[in-house]
Amino acid sequence: MAKACTGRKNIQGHPCFGSNHHQNGRIHLAVAPRCNIKCGYCTRRHDCVNESRPGVTSRVQSPTEALQTVRDVMDSASLGRLIRVVGIAGPGDPLANEETFETFRLVGEEFPHLIKCLSTNGLVLPDRIGELDQLGLGSLTVTLNALDPEIGSRIYTFVNYRGTAYRGRDAAELLIANQLAGLEKAADLGITIKVNTVLIPGVNDGEIPRIAEKVKELGAAVMNVMPLIPQADFAGLQAPTPERLEEIRSVNEKIIGQFRHCRQCRADAIGLIGQDANFDSGCAITLKQE
Ligand code: SF4
Ligand code: SF4
Ligand code: SF4
Repeated sequence: MAKACTGRKNIQGHPCFGSNHHQNGRIHLAVAPRCNIKCGYCTRRHDCVNESRPGVTSRVQSPTEALQTVRDVMDSASLGRLIRVVGIAGPGDPLANEETFETFRLVGEEFPHLIKCLSTNGLVLPDRIGELDQLGLGSLTVTLNALDPEIGSRIYTFVNYRGTAYRGRDAAELLIANQLAGLEKAADLGITIKVNTVLIPGVNDGEIPRIAEKVKELGAAVMNVMPLIPQADFAGLQAPTPERLEEIRSVNEKIIGQFRHCRQCRADAIGLIGQDANFDSGCAITLKQE
């Protein structure tokens, strides 16, 4: 039986979880450059596709620089009143970077009212979810592209876990097992969970309803099916058409709520979804319309 899917922690006002995304914004802090896996669609020159729009590399910040960014944004007359969430989403995998934890600690001390949110590939989620919970994580996104390890082995080139490199089916099996275990633990801790799945035509189409069923059962609140951006090893594949994406989301909607306004934001996005500000510490803000 499916668990209650809305976490016990208060994430009222979170634009990625159903609250008004025209009024409520988020700050992404790009403090996490390293990654512990390799997805076929990732070029590593760009932000993690977990939560980001490829094409522009983020400037990585240290935790203290990131704290200063939050201070500057919260002091800004135009942005401060919009921000509800501090998210860490890349440019690599946040959980492969100790800076993620230090950043949440620093920001949490000074801005306890901001919701803490994190996006991960889930490889080390079972190992680190307890610390994230203690730091006050309110919401979590796990990018999960397959349940079948055979299919996973076509998506993931390698996985580095606890000092060992895995490839092929072994890599996918380990990653998927950890994603599901981590997701379940997070749900049990009352954290609200979104699952991102990259729709890779001809590779994981058939997996999507199975993923929807499984993550719903484990306690996820919402699913975000994202279109493949063909690049890196998958440069030769076609992106799904908008009609195909909508067809898949409509079928999925009968299983779990679908998140439809995702704009595949950059790991350093600040402001309202789709209207991010280019913010530097000098407080020069220019709105970049997508
Ligand atoms: Fe790239 Fe993100 Fe995949 Fe890591 S998890 S390989 S950064 S897309
Ligand atoms: Fe959280 Fe992801 Fe939304 Fe960022 S993009 S605020 S990490 S759900
Ligand atoms: Fe994250 Fe997508 Fe929301 Fe952007 S639109 S903040 S990538 S869930």
